[in-house]
Amino acid sequence: MGTSTFAERLSQIQEEVAEAALGSGRAPEDITLIGVSKRKPVEDMQQAYEAGLRDFGENRAQEVRDKFPGFNPPDIVRHFIGHLQSNKVKYLPGRVDIIHTIDSIRIADAIDERFGAQDLAIPVLVEINISGESNKEGVDPFKALELAAYCSEKSNLEFQGLMTIGPLTADSGRIRQAFREMKLIHEQVVRQLGSSGKAAILSMGMSSDFKIAIEEGATHIRVGTALFGAREY
Ligand SMILES: *Cc1c(COP(=O)(O)O)cnc(C)c1O
Repeated sequence: MGTSTFAERLSQIQEEVAEAALGSGRAPEDITLIGVSKRKPVEDMQQAYEAGLRDFGENRAQEVRDKFPGFNPPDIVRHFIGHLQSNKVKYLPGRVDIIHTIDSIRIADAIDERFGAQDLAIPVLVEINISGESNKEGVDPFKALELAAYCSEKSNLEFQGLMTIGPLTADSGRIRQAFREMKLIHEQVVRQLGSSGKAAILSMGMSSDFKIAIEEGATHIRVGTALFGAREY
């Protein structure tokens, strides 16, 4: 990251987003940039907010619990993008605005129940394991529609689309192919369940592959390192 400021990195990424969008005949405004602030202190998030970032991504339930009371401007959107265990769902109601990572009926039920208990409805995405890598979370592509339909029947879940993590490879052709398959699955889900604009979200692309993701139809990209700098785990 050198000595660049957050504001400089943000405008650099925004430029790249606009370029990728325009280059593929899309409007830059149709792409939401989520800044992934996991493992970063609230001071960094505050700085990001002052630079204009409004969408924040976190991937651990306890981190959400610990951070958002201390950083919660009224106009931010808090995205939960991590793998969820049922016993951690209790930390999320009132602290996140959308969950990207529904990958089982069990977790869908747990979220529906916990948010329902507080009279809250929560927008959700179904996570797909598009690359078939065994270490990846997410449902098999052929189960996407079934789980999406299940979510859209739940009274406290608002099904809004799909999410994936691209294959871990330097081969941009393989990455593009995976995102292209996601787009096809997304189109199928929209045809079946997308009446009146529901299911419109396609969340894919990270620091290393967000341009390809935009070219292949992502509506939401999740960028951590390129915005906030490297993480210490
Ligand atoms: C950490 C994370 C990101 C951001 O990754 P970078 O490579 O740092 O941009 C995006 N999506 C998910 C699900 C993540 O866990």
